[in-house]
Amino acid sequence: MKATAACVVTLSVALLASIGVLVALPVLALGAPTSTAPVAASIPIGGYALPLPANFLSTAAVQRHHHDYPALDIPVPVGTAAFAVAAGTIIAAGDDGARCGGTVILVDRRSNRFVYCHASQVLVEPGQRVDVGELILLTGGRRGAAGAGDSTGPHLHFGVFVAGTARCPQSLLLAWLAGVALDPEAAAATGCT
Ligand SMILES: [Zn+2]
Repeated sequence: MKATAACVVTLSVALLASIGVLVALPVLALGAPTSTAPVAASIPIGGYALPLPANFLSTAAVQRHHHDYPALDIPVPVGTAAFAVAAGTIIAAGDDGARCGGTVILVDRRSNRFVYCHASQVLVEPGQRVDVGELILLTGGRRGAAGAGDSTGPHLHFGVFVAGTARCPQSLLLAWLAGVALDPEAAAATGCT
């Protein structure tokens, strides 16, 4: 949990460079400096990929209960790479000017929705198609910073919706961390608040 964002990027780039997977993406900033630094993709588990580098996804971190509705707040340093958990289409991207702040909403081929909040930088646009594991945003959440929304500290808010109903990302991430490509439809709808 003490790793800096810079360390994470360095480790990820080194890991992915070792297997020849590197992409360079322009950065659409939310009031932050732009960057074209190379970034690493998240390695898929079946049709899914972890939303953050695995070193931030301890069993304890992914089992945290959310403060109100089913969702998951994962503490990570500002600037941590976040990834598309499935291939699909971006239906919202940018600062919502409200609670979520820097927002990315992804819809997969099964019509399930994945919501990411508090991004310091959103790296995709509405209508854009993304591959599983693709870098889509840099995390934020420091109180008062651009894109933080109502967040009071650095973290990624991650939500999963099946037919408009919130599911517990905790059960999905536990499965994916174990190498099981559990579908959102099989995720618990209660027990994580
Ligand atoms: Zn939250």
